[in-house]
Amino acid sequence: MRKVTKIIVHCTATREGQKVTAKDVDAWHKQRGWSGIGYHYLVHLDGTIEEGRPLEQIGAHTKGQNRNSIGVCYVGGLDKNGDPKDTRTEQQQDALLNLITDLKERFPGATVHGHREFSAKACPCFDAKSEYANVGNVRKSPLQSTTMQASGVAIASGAGTAISTVSGLDANAQYIVLVFAGLIVLAGLWIMRERLKKWANGDR
Ligand SMILES: [Zn+2]
Repeated sequence: MRKVTKIIVHCTATREGQKVTAKDVDAWHKQRGWSGIGYHYLVHLDGTIEEGRPLEQIGAHTKGQNRNSIGVCYVGGLDKNGDPKDTRTEQQQDALLNLITDLKERFPGATVHGHREFSAKACPCFDAKSEYANVGNVRKSPLQSTTMQASGVAIASGAGTAISTVSGLDANAQYIVLVFAGLIVLAGLWIMRERLKKWANGDR
């Protein structure tokens, strides 16, 4: 994967309510002589997200910034008269926030910007930089971390399986199984401790 330092938000510069598919954008961008759709994600009016150019490929969306950025584009950006307007539907706002949150988790150092910070354009017709300035900056507690939750569940289910097996065995076998279950729990706790250390170092 290439190095990603910026997530740059765009609009398709199409009128409010007009549907646009990634295929349409692909055709427009090919007309400009590019290899195809320049954005990595297209966020539709109903909040569905369509993938454009694969993330590991350099996009074509912001002059001078493509190498280390991801291009995210929502459909819209113009009012009925063709003037710049933040036309994002509620679903698009939610989808953009979720997508940017995910990307910030995947590329923790990346900052979020609007196309207009790099070019004399209105795109994306809202202040993306300040709207998303704090996304992903609040660290999750260990109990909210998905990897920590997964270890907890694994330990509990390991111990549970062992205990339910024990009841059907004779005394010696029960003893052996219980020791074994104890070892699984200890191993689980050790793994959790290692993950906790990693978490403390800032990597989830
Ligand atoms: Zn743009």
